[in-house]
Amino acid sequence: MHLSSRVRGISLSMTLALDARAKALAQSGRDIVNMSVGEPDFDAPPVVQEAAAKAVRGGKVRYTPAAGTQSLRKLLAEHVSATRGVRYSPEEITVCHSCKHALSGTVLTLCEPGDEVLLLLPAWLSYMEIVRIAGGVPIEVPSRADCGPDFEAIERSIGARTRGLLLNSPNNPTGYVWSKAEVEELGRIAERHDLWIISDEIYRRLIYEGEPDTSPVSLSESLRARTAIVDGASKTYAMTGYRIGFVAARKEVAGGVERLHSHLTGCPNAISQDAYEAGLREEPPEIAKMAAEFARRRKFLLSELDSMGLRTPWPRGAFYAFPDVSPWLDARGSAGFCEDLLEKEGVALVPGSAFGVDTHVRLSYALSMEKIAEATKRLRAFLAKHPAAKVAAR
Ligand code: PMP
Repeated sequence: MHLSSRVRGISLSMTLALDARAKALAQSGRDIVNMSVGEPDFDAPPVVQEAAAKAVRGGKVRYTPAAGTQSLRKLLAEHVSATRGVRYSPEEITVCHSCKHALSGTVLTLCEPGDEVLLLLPAWLSYMEIVRIAGGVPIEVPSRADCGPDFEAIERSIGARTRGLLLNSPNNPTGYVWSKAEVEELGRIAERHDLWIISDEIYRRLIYEGEPDTSPVSLSESLRARTAIVDGASKTYAMTGYRIGFVAARKEVAGGVERLHSHLTGCPNAISQDAYEAGLREEPPEIAKMAAEFARRRKFLLSELDSMGLRTPWPRGAFYAFPDVSPWLDARGSAGFCEDLLEKEGVALVPGSAFGVDTHVRLSYALSMEKIAEATKRLRAFLAKHPAAKVAAR
């Protein structure tokens, strides 16, 4: 059977594949600590669960408008206006199946075949594939050593065919949160070169210290006009399996995503729309508790990594750490490191190569303190058996 070149070029999402491999090993009886997960280990708040159950029992299981129910779009417009400090109308909101769906719809809406799109490394692996699916050309831009933005590298990467860039703060996999000054600098570059920005703000509620997140849209009217925000319920409300998110952008862009999705998926899941609405309306207390627990784990994990001699860019947000393991790598790079760690010690991590940075690995702390303690114990033992200097000298 002939498969389209569009699909032949795509690999299965490495994080999902790794998660599946770790689960399969655990099912076969191996004692595995899975630190490759990209989802909160908490239940969705009861108010969300009840709203979903009520929607099912009440028969709210029919198609909705392609852009989402009017009440959710209105609520999201109010929510974005309040949290980003700039007014959005319901017509500027398109509800999607997830943030990933919002992102792919927005890239398909903005990106012409052959357009270059800047991905600021390390970049979440789906960005590259989504841009390629849209016919765009992903241009990988290296970051500073602390994983913050390297503006000179960004400027150098811009050519005649560069049309846009993807911003992700707090970042997956580093947890890096851009300062307001950095977003302003990026905004100036976008204005100067007439670039659109897709701002993936899915982790914005998970920031543990320092300055809050700055969205480009809050800086000026003209940045608001060239920026599309993508966000959703997965991380904030621990609703990963509900699959619900949105894009907030000027009407033409939100409308483009709506038209596209009206053919590709019809409408977002009706049950999840009600559940998301309940979460947004109530601001459940479980959200703050979850963030406080992530903050506690982050502190523990970072001090453990530091005591093992691993250099880790400081993660102010999200629920990942991204230590540099380059002294321990052989020719197989970060994938080989993760393979050996999984086989020998039963700890699943994600290789940095999945994010375009082969010198690092990603650890998720969206798992219990006990499991984090067990994983770091095993990682310490693994590193001790493969002393960095010895590996480097080979
Ligand atoms: N953006 C980033 C940076 C992510 O890490 C993820 C999930 N891992 C998503 C988007 C996708 O979120 P959703 O579940 O809403 O598709």
